[in-house]
Amino acid sequence: MGSHLCQRFLNEGHQVICLDNLQTGSIRNITPFFDASGFRFIEHDICEPVSVAGRIDEIYNMACAASPGRYQADPIHTSRTCFQGALNLLELAKDKGARILLSSTSEIYGDPEVSLQSEEYRGSVNTCGPRACYDEGKRIAETLFWEFGAHQGVETRIARIFNTYGPNMDPEDGRVVSNFIVQALQDQDLTIYGTGEQTRSFCFVSDLVDGLVRLMASDEKMPVNLGNPGEFTMLELARKVAKMTRTRAGIVHKPLPQDDPRQRRPDISKAADVLGWAPEVALEQGLETTIDWYRERLSADREAVAQVGQ
Ligand code: UDP
Repeated sequence: MGSHLCQRFLNEGHQVICLDNLQTGSIRNITPFFDASGFRFIEHDICEPVSVAGRIDEIYNMACAASPGRYQADPIHTSRTCFQGALNLLELAKDKGARILLSSTSEIYGDPEVSLQSEEYRGSVNTCGPRACYDEGKRIAETLFWEFGAHQGVETRIARIFNTYGPNMDPEDGRVVSNFIVQALQDQDLTIYGTGEQTRSFCFVSDLVDGLVRLMASDEKMPVNLGNPGEFTMLELARKVAKMTRTRAGIVHKPLPQDDPRQRRPDISKAADVLGWAPEVALEQGLETTIDWYRERLSADREAVAQVGQ
């Protein structure tokens, strides 16, 4: 998402500072920007204090590993990124007089007991489980943003992002869309965790970026859901990807991870009201673009390996 935001702002003629610890972000996604005069890259972890010279108007805090496998690999660092990282960026925003947006998450609703999650729903989160470092981390980050907005004079925005996919996602990311596509393109069986009846709602990255930019420009200080309300079971997703890639692979079932949410679907009426926003890219359309991107990426990787072997 970060690289797509950079691209958008560079296209619009802004000066962009991309700050990343490269824990999950790939330098490959931003190397095309290194020649742009308005682009600067700083390798830094926001868990440490952040100091940046010069004027800053807006800060998008997109930090934190978001794939369960990745954020659970170092849970303490995940929680620190959400808490200490958010605090460091809020201090920077206060110091610079910048507006700041938090990429929060649908995970703050935990394993929801209601089928359409609106911003009023307070969630059902397990504080002592493998997802807690991320879910509770993002919850405290929201609290910090709200405090700085309400009592510290900082212009804060909070986006609750639902599952998002698209080009530039690491093939090894581990989340369901990239897993299924990469497996299908390599004719390896698609791994469904559990029965595959759990649901998710998938938003294409260009829609999400548009929602983030609109939210930043709006006056809304309270959290806003951003996601595509189309809801699919993981079985449906697997069948779609299998059909679209014409894979020879089948489907295998693997154990369901602990605390895996059974359902997720955003109520986006607030985003429609306050931002005039709604996603435009249907799942099939977004999958097509994403499959094409992975096809090229995997073939480039194969060529690179072949060249090293020569
Ligand atoms: N999932 C799956 N196969 C995979 C990866 C994930 O069936 O190879 C399931 C996972 O158990 C969850 C859903 O797909 O129910 C979405 O998982 P993901 O990790 O993409 O995101 P999150 O659980 O954070 O929404």
